[in-house]
Amino acid sequence: MSSADEEVRGNMRGLWFLAALVVAVFSKETFEGHQVFRITAKDEVEIRLLKDLSEQKDLGLDFWREPVGVSLPVDVRVPFPSLQALRAFLGYHEIHYEIMIQDLQDLLNEEQGEMLRFRGLQPRSTDDFTYASYHTPDEINSFMDMLVQENPGFVSKIVIGQSYEGRPLNVLKFSTGANRPGLWIDTGIHSREWVTQASGTWFAKKIVTDYGRDAELTDILDKYDIFLEIITNPDGFQFTHSSNRMWRKTRKPNPGSSCVGVDPNRNWDAGFGGAGASSSPCTETYRGPKAHSEPEVKSIVDFVTSHGQIKAFVSIHSYSQMLLYPYGYTKTPCKDQAELHELAKKAVSDLSSLYNTQYRYGSIITTIYQASGGTIDWTYNQGIKYSYTFELRDTGRYGFILPANQIIPTAQETWLALMAIMKHTKNNPY
Ligand SMILES: [Zn+2]
Repeated sequence: MSSADEEVRGNMRGLWFLAALVVAVFSKETFEGHQVFRITAKDEVEIRLLKDLSEQKDLGLDFWREPVGVSLPVDVRVPFPSLQALRAFLGYHEIHYEIMIQDLQDLLNEEQGEMLRFRGLQPRSTDDFTYASYHTPDEINSFMDMLVQENPGFVSKIVIGQSYEGRPLNVLKFSTGANRPGLWIDTGIHSREWVTQASGTWFAKKIVTDYGRDAELTDILDKYDIFLEIITNPDGFQFTHSSNRMWRKTRKPNPGSSCVGVDPNRNWDAGFGGAGASSSPCTETYRGPKAHSEPEVKSIVDFVTSHGQIKAFVSIHSYSQMLLYPYGYTKTPCKDQAELHELAKKAVSDLSSLYNTQYRYGSIITTIYQASGGTIDWTYNQGIKYSYTFELRDTGRYGFILPANQIIPTAQETWLALMAIMKHTKNNPY
């Protein structure tokens, strides 16, 4: 073979490589030119207009915060081609808005760059793990395996089921004795809320670090097991890394629709099908064909039911900085409202003692909006008195794209609130 032939072959290989790279890059959805608007409605008329807008599917708007009332601004991701139409609509109705994120892709590029700095650095132990960075599902799974290996007889990994695409639903169990009641924490049921899975990873390390050193946590773990599901929606989480950073729902196809996925926080058998959830598969709050239709939800239902002794249940979301208790589907106060409110107040005050991060707290329906089929309404109705939902940082400056340098502070402050809830549960057995 002549050297000219070889050169041609070499160039061909180069071209193939380039083509593969192009496919890899372009199979990921880009958000170039997408902006995030903050819309502040001044009265119910404007809220009504925004609600109508949220039903306009052709604009491709992604409501990061739905229009609910004048007390909370609406955040919405606007694809580039819809910018003009939305500006015209808001201008015509004289509705106030500002731009929170100028170009979403710029933020995503920064986030990717930050992650790539640590790629390939295989941590040898959980001490080496970069808690201040976002991680792929594979990296978090190896972290969990390392943590289990490093703490035999204390940390184990249980598999409570399989996701729709067949991924194991892994739960870390922290236990120092047999037949204990349990405390549950989950993160990442909405896959794009990346600061939650990152915080969950930090919590796992915090638990093994503090046991035997911190008197309060030691006391809790001498009486209770802690269950921690870090990647609660693994198909969605994988999809946020490989294809679409803004994916929220599960990844199960919907028969008769081209839209994929169910909102796993509208799929629980608590006011299922009521207001505050959608029956349309193409919305971000699609409740699913029936309660517990999603294996990611059903697996937790089966686990909680068969365990029978879960005493506190905390489901962690982002963003908005809120600590919420039941109910979401009804205005009727839950029977433990007074106690749950006092405990939320204490937890939020502990949280803010660290970095002065301000949280709202209250029942879901009075603090954010009516939402039916939510996780903690179901757990509360199962008899788990201490059922809470967090919405972590921030209040919308970055929304779901919280910079990685806020992961550790977010996890640290949230841990103080979690400790308050776990301590209270321990001191008030039922
Ligand atoms: Zn969420």
